[in-house]
Amino acid sequence: MSSENERPRNRDDPAAVQRLDEETVDRIAAGEVVTRPARVVGELLDNSLDAGASSVRVAVDGDGTEHIRVADDGHGMRREDARLAVERHATSKLRDAAELQSATSLGFRGEALPSIAEAGRLELVTSDGSEPGTRLVVEDGEPVVTDTGRARGTTVVVRDLFADRPARRESLGSAGTEFARVSDLVARYALTRPDVAVSLIHDGRELFSTPGSGEYADALLSVYDRHVASRSTTFTHETPVETAGEHQPVRVEGVLVYPSTTRSDRSHIRTAVNQRPVVDEGLRRAVERAYGSLLPDGRHPVAVVACDLPPATVDANVHPAKAEVALSVRQAVEAAVERGVNEALTTADLRRSGELSMELEESLEAKTGASVLDAATVLGQFQELYILCQEDDELLVVDQHAAHERVNYERLQAAVEGAGIETVTLDPPETLSLSPAAAAVVADRGDALATLGFEATPFGGSTVKLSTVPAPMGRPADADAFRETVAAMARGAEPASVQDDVLADLACHPSLKAGDELSTERAAALVERVGRCEQPFACPHGRPTVLSIEAGTLAAGFERGAR
Ligand code: ADP
Ligand code: MG
Repeated sequence: MSSENERPRNRDDPAAVQRLDEETVDRIAAGEVVTRPARVVGELLDNSLDAGASSVRVAVDGDGTEHIRVADDGHGMRREDARLAVERHATSKLRDAAELQSATSLGFRGEALPSIAEAGRLELVTSDGSEPGTRLVVEDGEPVVTDTGRARGTTVVVRDLFADRPARRESLGSAGTEFARVSDLVARYALTRPDVAVSLIHDGRELFSTPGSGEYADALLSVYDRHVASRSTTFTHETPVETAGEHQPVRVEGVLVYPSTTRSDRSHIRTAVNQRPVVDEGLRRAVERAYGSLLPDGRHPVAVVACDLPPATVDANVHPAKAEVALSVRQAVEAAVERGVNEALTTADLRRSGELSMELEESLEAKTGASVLDAATVLGQFQELYILCQEDDELLVVDQHAAHERVNYERLQAAVEGAGIETVTLDPPETLSLSPAAAAVVADRGDALATLGFEATPFGGSTVKLSTVPAPMGRPADADAFRETVAAMARGAEPASVQDDVLADLACHPSLKAGDELSTERAAALVERVGRCEQPFACPHGRPTVLSIEAGTLAAGFERGAR
């Protein structure tokens, strides 16, 4: 055995692993660490980042219970530290209870590796750069150590997770659900830590790989695609907050995708606090408030927002999964996030006016047939959201977004029924990992998907290759629109209603938004065009496009008496 590696180390060495004393153990928030594969991946990622890794590769097979592998190029461990690391409450990150308040590392409980070793088969290959490296497997609770070659860094492999815990296995979701949790988690780390190169491999196929350039935009491009990333803006915002009578800076930064790209839930708002990726609903809501009326109803943005706060205001010791943090100045931080995001969106050229006006002209092309709104005269625009018109003795209020959506929607329907929907080819095709049920839809219902502009082929396991997406208005749909479509079909939704939903979604994005200024001519063209629609008075989501107020209502309001 190498004497170099077994030499007792200096207690002050920051990487030295030591057992925590009882007082500290008692003060650490307790809770089960390993409940599902994503939690294992999260703990291993935390360890890699705490080890100062500049690159972390995560590989998972199936739902993650078979095989998880996390490899980093961090500072690694010496043999004696590796041995201690798999013992409970042994950590290099905390010396005593006093340090608990100021811990800036992602881990500090010394519980992850022993818990993982209990729940599955743990193998650790590590080296601090000195020869030879250490391979450690835990067998029947005992670490067995051998020599091995490895460059500086650590690889942890976990197999057969929960193999002898049937109750735990029972509580897991489907393979698709569990892997979705893993990929969401790894994406959160990749997006909020653009300084680290993070990659995710599923069943041998790489789903994404960020360059570690430190640029949020680069990470966004790697995790999403160029259609999403090309419509985004990075931002930084700094503001002082008062804590303990002192003004200290709060820094907010990240990348915001323009509201023409949205999602059906809040999970694509990724947040971090002091380099710790956290799922924080309060911060997410602050981001969403800043997008405000730019978002269509019921839709949510894609955004990455990282906050840098005075360490004394953050307590990470509140949640065993460390997913949430306690902020002593939460209100001020949320206000800073809201302001920072809002300012960035206000300065960003969201409308990219050229594109929008072209789209508008095209969608307002004359359509034969009578317009039910022929007799309406445009009076003007109210709040850059409503078009006010006069028609006989009625005041019409047209919701410009809803009306434009209706027009676009009917154009799309006509396209699907006629020459087919316009598509763009993805080169190279996008590789997507789906739930088994969704993958089955791709295998069995290719025709229905092709009608909607999605061409996809099964590619082994539940992976598919997506080679075309609909782009009826010059703007291609993204892979998430495809995921939503196959998920709806997998849930057994009627083909016609799936088609309607996809078209309504495609119609929404290029439509005029609140805040789009319209000339009187264009407003008139829109009113006249929506009047020629088959169903002029409702948007594809069922909301009204036009409200009418009779002169009599106004007269009554002004107490002019009935006329
Ligand atoms: P904690 O992270 O709370 O300290 P863990 O059980 O996760 O507890 O890890 C125990 C110790 O093992 C860590 O404190 C660290 O010293 C060491 N360690 C774990 N993973 C790595 C890694 N990827 N690189 C270097 N050291 C590691
Ligand atoms: Mg840890």
